Amino acid sequence: MANNFKISESEIQTQCEYMKRVAAIVSPFSPKAHIRTYGCQQNEADSERIAGMAAEMGYTLTENVEEADLIIVNTCAVREHAELKALSVTGQFKHLKEKKKSLVIGMCGCMVSQEHRKEDIKQKYPYVDFSFGTSMLYRFPEILYTCLTKNKRAFYLDTASSGNIAEGLPVVRGSAFKAWVSVMYGCNNFCTYCVVPYVRGRERSREKEKILREVSSLAASGYREITLLGQNVNSYGKDLYGDSYDFADLLSDVCKIDGEFMVRFMTSHPKDASKKLIDTMAENDKVAKQFHLPLQSGSNKILKAMNRVYTKEKYLELVEYMRRKMPDISITTDIIVGFPGESEEDFLETLDALEKVRYDNIFSFLYSPRKGTPAAGMENTVPSDVKNERFERMLKLQNEISNGKNQAYVNTVQRVLVEGRSKTDTTRLTGRNEKNRLIHFEGDDSLIGNMADILVERADTYALYGKLVK
Ligand code: SAH
Ligand code: SF4
Repeated sequence: MANNFKISESEIQTQCEYMKRVAAIVSPFSPKAHIRTYGCQQNEADSERIAGMAAEMGYTLTENVEEADLIIVNTCAVREHAELKALSVTGQFKHLKEKKKSLVIGMCGCMVSQEHRKEDIKQKYPYVDFSFGTSMLYRFPEILYTCLTKNKRAFYLDTASSGNIAEGLPVVRGSAFKAWVSVMYGCNNFCTYCVVPYVRGRERSREKEKILREVSSLAASGYREITLLGQNVNSYGKDLYGDSYDFADLLSDVCKIDGEFMVRFMTSHPKDASKKLIDTMAENDKVAKQFHLPLQSGSNKILKAMNRVYTKEKYLELVEYMRRKMPDISITTDIIVGFPGESEEDFLETLDALEKVRYDNIFSFLYSPRKGTPAAGMENTVPSDVKNERFERMLKLQNEISNGKNQAYVNTVQRVLVEGRSKTDTTRLTGRNEKNRLIHFEGDDSLIGNMADILVERADTYALYGKLVK
């Protein structure tokens, strides 16, 4: 089966030409680029591509926005809060433009992939020079070149190309030991609350050879952790290989690559998380024994209204199978509180699921209506005080569970990948074990990017604390 979505090599070549042209214009001024990223790992991965292209065009990357000549805001649209955050941050850049007229400000990502937001930016943010939708990421060099040479604002939304896959773009990775590798883009699921299918287009898989080559090169460069990314990784390959090669096959092939690295993946939709995938995980030491399996709600009525296409019972069966195959697997989830029509009984079903599964961690969200999605037009909305009250009750329950799980680690030795200095206490290093559990300990910077064994001495709801044993 052919992938109709692949962008031709000649188109990528065209963009390489634009990179050279931009470099010829800006390089003499030693320009600096600042990239601000909101949202999920997919956005982070996209920003690494933007950084790669910016570097190729002669920009040095900077964390300090004050000194930037180019600012790119990569936005999220999954909840209103994320949109408001990106808008307010962009608003703060107005004064920078007033100080430095040559500053170029661009926006990209999911928020500006919506027509109404694109128009908002055009009308209300006159100091933003351009925006482009997620499907046009590879055309960033051309868009920037046009901006620099035409001196005209432009806001691009190419919905016709919302199925694009661009291979071979340059990349500057945010870490020297942890890497994102996109295996597919887009989503076909249309959960009724979710904006993702509208802003990221339909599901399309990267060719397996391209993925395996990328992982091999990361492993050869010493990367310790590789996370395979997709909105619904379990659909991997359907568009390219039908039933003959699926995500479990890909995972198994990734594990055959030489090197001392650990593999994670996200996200799995419970409706197609297969037993084959679970078996593949169980059989391969390289796969971290951690599974993110978004439940969203424990009520079958709400799951149906959300178009999730599984029941609580099916979900629990899947969890049971996982635990049978990998007794110490860590399971995490996403929950939406206050979906339209959620009654107290429905909510109690969600609490019941939390008690039954005993998740290692949950990511919980207040339902946020998204323009253009079916749920935004649903009646029986849940008042915000009720949503908030449910949210608090859920957190209290989960905190007890998480704390109990963390206490069980005390007096055990955990192998962690050391990620860096703790953000809240720079005297400590912080790392994550295979289960993705955060562990703080004292040590020197030479450990960063390496594995270390930590004796856990105490634990709280959010993290473990210990000392280096090796
Ligand atoms: N493809 C992934 C992630 C989607 S977005 C998946 O299917 O799990 C990440 C999470 O944001 C979702 O799992 C959901 O819990 C939450 N989310 C999505 N839309 C939302 C909305 N409108 N309001 C509140 N939370 C939402
Ligand atoms: Fe959104 Fe559902 Fe697709 Fe996840 S599976 S991205 S929640 S539509």
